[in-house]
Amino acid sequence: MPFDLIQEMGHEQVVFCSNPSIGLRAIIAIHNTSLGPALGGTRMYPYPTEEEALKDVLRLSKGMTYKSAASGLNFGGGKAVILADPKKDKSESLFRAFGAYVNRLNGQFITGEDVGMDVHDMEYIFMETDYVVGLSKSHGGSGDPSPMTAYGVLQGIFACLDQRGHGKNLKDITVALQGLGHVGYWLSRYLKEHGAKVIACDVDTSLCEKAVSELGVEIVDPQKIYDVECDIFSPCAMGGILNEHTLPRLKAKIIAGSANNQLSSDDLGKQILERNILYAPDYVINSGGLINVALEIEGYSEYRAKLLTKNIYHHLKRIFEISKKQKLCPQLSANQLAEERIRNLGNIRRSHRLNPDRIRRENPKD
Ligand code: NAD
Repeated sequence: MPFDLIQEMGHEQVVFCSNPSIGLRAIIAIHNTSLGPALGGTRMYPYPTEEEALKDVLRLSKGMTYKSAASGLNFGGGKAVILADPKKDKSESLFRAFGAYVNRLNGQFITGEDVGMDVHDMEYIFMETDYVVGLSKSHGGSGDPSPMTAYGVLQGIFACLDQRGHGKNLKDITVALQGLGHVGYWLSRYLKEHGAKVIACDVDTSLCEKAVSELGVEIVDPQKIYDVECDIFSPCAMGGILNEHTLPRLKAKIIAGSANNQLSSDDLGKQILERNILYAPDYVINSGGLINVALEIEGYSEYRAKLLTKNIYHHLKRIFEISKKQKLCPQLSANQLAEERIRNLGNIRRSHRLNPDRIRRENPKD
C-alpha cells in the first residue's frame, strides 16, 4: 500500500500529478523540509510499473534529504519522477503541465535536471514555475554542474590523503579513474594539474582519446580498472560498482569518486572498513554539483560556489573522525551527522517555503 511505504520512509508529502489529455503521470515526493524547501531533480523514466516509480521517487528524495543536510545546505530533500519514455514522450505540453504542478507547491519543492531530462525540458518547466534550478547560463542559471562536482571530489581526495597522513599532496599519487564523462574529464584535469598520475578508462573510446591528447591520461581497458596498481580508486561512471567481485581486486587504500550509489549493499561499507580502505561517502564527496545549483536561489556566484564546495574537505574530515572513533563505516557516520543536523536545526526552523522574490538570477548572458 502506498501509505505504508510513505510512512515507513518518513515522507512529509507525496503528490501524484495526472493530466490524461496530455499524458502526464508524475510523482513529486517531499521527504523532509526541516532544513529548508525540498530540493531535488526531476527524472523521466519509463518505469515498468507505478509501484516501481513510487519506490524510486521515495528512495531518491530521502537520499536528497541526507545529501543537503550533510553538505551544510539549508534545503530539504525532494525528487520527482515523470513516468514516460524520454526517447518518445517528450513534449512542450507535458513539461509545462508538470511545471504547473511544481508551481502549485508554492516553493515547498524546487527542482532541476536529472536522468532522462535536458536543459531544453527544464526551460519548458521554467515557463510555468520559478522553482527551478540548474538552468543554462543563457537563462541566468549556473550551467553545467559537472566541473563543480569534480572540484568537490578533488577536495574530498585531499581530505582522504590528509586522513591517511599524506597531507594535501598529489605528487607521487596514482589515481585509477573509472569514467571519463562530464565529471571524470574535469576531475582528471584537476588531478593532472596537481601532479597526480591518472590511469583511466571509459567504454566510450572517443572520450579516452580526448583525455589522452588533452590531458596526458593513461588508458586501460574498462575490465581492468579494478586491478590497476594505484593509491586511489575513483569511480566516476555508474552506481553499484563496489561489490563482492570488485572489492577484493582493488589495490587502492582510498576510494573517492563522484558516482552515485557506489556501494552495491549496506554490508559492503563494513567490508571496506575491514580491508582498511578509506571510503569517501558518495553523497558527500559528490555534492559540489548540488551546492552549485542551490546557489542559484540566492544569486549565483562561481566564487561562492567554489568556497562552499571547498568545505567538502572539512565535512569529510569530520565524518572520518567519527568513523574512526566509533569504528563505523564512513557512510553510516555521514548518515549520523546528517540526521543530527536535521534534528537540531529542525527544532529551530519550521514550515519552509521559498518566496519567489528570493530567487535572484544573474542577468542572462549572451
Ligand atoms: P556521464 O554520463 O557524463 O559520464 C559517465 C561516463 O561513464 C560515460 O562517459 C560512460 O561512457 C562511462 N561509463 C559507463 N559505464 C562504464 C564502465 N563500465 N566503465 C567505464 N566507463 C563507463 O556522467 P557524469 O555527469 O560524469 O556523472 C558521473 C557519475 O557521477 C554518475 O554516477 C552521476 O550520477 C554522478 N554525479 C554526477 C554529478 C554531475 O554534476 N554531473 C553530480 C553528482 C553525481
